[in-house]
Amino acid sequence: MRPALLLPLVTAGCFGVPTPLAPSVDGSVGVPHAGVLRGAEELPVRGPGFVRLRPKSPNYWGNPRLVAGIRAAAGAVAEALPGGAPLLVGDISARRGGKIPGHRSHRTGRDVDLLFYVTTPSGAPVPSPGFVKFGTDGLASVKDELFLRLDVERNWVLVRELVTSRSAQVQWLFASRGVEALLIDYARARGEPPHVIWRAETMLLEPGDSSPHDDHFHVRFACSADEEVAGCEGGGPRWEWLDSHPPLPELDARALGEIASEDPFGLEAAFSVAPSPGGDG
Ligand SMILES: [Zn+2]
Repeated sequence: MRPALLLPLVTAGCFGVPTPLAPSVDGSVGVPHAGVLRGAEELPVRGPGFVRLRPKSPNYWGNPRLVAGIRAAAGAVAEALPGGAPLLVGDISARRGGKIPGHRSHRTGRDVDLLFYVTTPSGAPVPSPGFVKFGTDGLASVKDELFLRLDVERNWVLVRELVTSRSAQVQWLFASRGVEALLIDYARARGEPPHVIWRAETMLLEPGDSSPHDDHFHVRFACSADEEVAGCEGGGPRWEWLDSHPPLPELDARALGEIASEDPFGLEAAFSVAPSPGGDG
């Protein structure tokens, strides 16, 4: 076969890109580093508890569940701990997904970068100046003699919201081991429920194949069961606390009757046993 004829089949097969050969794909399609996005929603420039790092960037489109998850988590932090600076949100995805500058993933609307909440060394919350690297002591050197402290309290509440949200369905929170240790120690000290700490420990991960993420969280949302059917590909484990199947509606008598009456093979007749007029004979 000539190579020119082969190419469209190969691309359709590898990446799950929407084509006439696979017309039902929708939402987050493919894996995070080789996929596309349909039906995206844009994160507004600002809202309760959050603000975009790049107000004019075209790369703030995501799976609607991710956009709702960011808004809910940021709003929850602002409500639980008022008086802080808003969550600074980095890149999500392009409107139709695919490669965007500076990222290997972020192609299917399931990835977002969230900058850390920060304080002064004495603990007063201040707006994050951007991507600043925190050491295992929770301090970042910004300029000569100017230090910032990781706002462990707010970052923990953010993590807690993301790992306990049933609707958001987060898969990974990529962050450095140093940041994870500070957050988990804090959660234990303040007596958070063990199952919440366990989830956070499980989902917080220092990636082995990219930067250690000591200057932001990279949050990856899981594929929902419906999305998997429509072309979303996992790229990681499916935690037991996420919904594995969409809830099935209970079938009542009316629904059963409708199914029976539409059944071309006479299910109704098969199941309704009329009394025999003549007995056993
Ligand atoms: Zn990222």
